[in-house]
Amino acid sequence: MNVAVVTVGDELLTGDTVNTNAAWLCGQLTARGVAVERVTTIPDDVADIARVVNEYRAEHDAVIVTGGLGPTHDDVTMAGVAAAVGRNLEPHEEAREWLTGEGGYSAEGLVDGTTELPARARMLPNTEGVAPGAVVEGIYVLPGVPSEMKAMFEGIADEFHGTATFTTVVDVDEPESELVDRLAEVQTRYDVTVGSYPGESVRVKFTATDESVLEEAAAWLASRVDLIEEE
Ligand code: ATP
Ligand code: MG
Repeated sequence: MNVAVVTVGDELLTGDTVNTNAAWLCGQLTARGVAVERVTTIPDDVADIARVVNEYRAEHDAVIVTGGLGPTHDDVTMAGVAAAVGRNLEPHEEAREWLTGEGGYSAEGLVDGTTELPARARMLPNTEGVAPGAVVEGIYVLPGVPSEMKAMFEGIADEFHGTATFTTVVDVDEPESELVDRLAEVQTRYDVTVGSYPGESVRVKFTATDESVLEEAAAWLASRVDLIEEE
């Protein structure tokens, strides 16, 4: 299964908020064997949301959208998603029932628009906040507040699955530029994906669906490089 993640919010684009939701979702999805193929951040703008979501839903098995769910003027994500699938935003009966029941809100206390979802969407209850999420045509719409987003994702996590992969890291004490040939060779010899991440050392990360192939590939490289000394 492959997924695109769309994080919505002007505050992400200005750098006021660090996009921890994207990193958290990518980690959760990858751990479930899902291939995350896009992470895109867009402004709180209906047309931008509609365009990007519509493009991604055509190309990916699912799209996860977070941010901009509240009923305030700058929260327009539901309108953008509704536009992407050509549906109207409508008061959602189940969302109203959940909020006035388990949610503990009075019908009068709910700000207008709080229970509006794209027509015929599946409602996702927000156990940590107010604004409900929604699923429509493979698009999962989650809140921006990290605690709310995580709780809501956990409720639907089983809907995201893929091929389990194994990973291991070889920490190399050589300049990355000198490793080019050996990194290319290990990839041709073994059925593994190799990523190299330079920092103080070069972290070479192996990913494979077969654990023994993974270990053989890592051992092949480890015996041909200067390794970081373990403390
Ligand atoms: P609410 O229903 O409370 O209005 P919301 O779904 O509309 O929430 P936003 O208005 O987009 O969410 O953001 C709420 C808070 O969550 C803000 O403080 C924002 O900075 C933070 N937030 C939003 N998106 C992210 C993100 N991708 N990573 C980390 N924090 C985020
Ligand atoms: Mg917002």
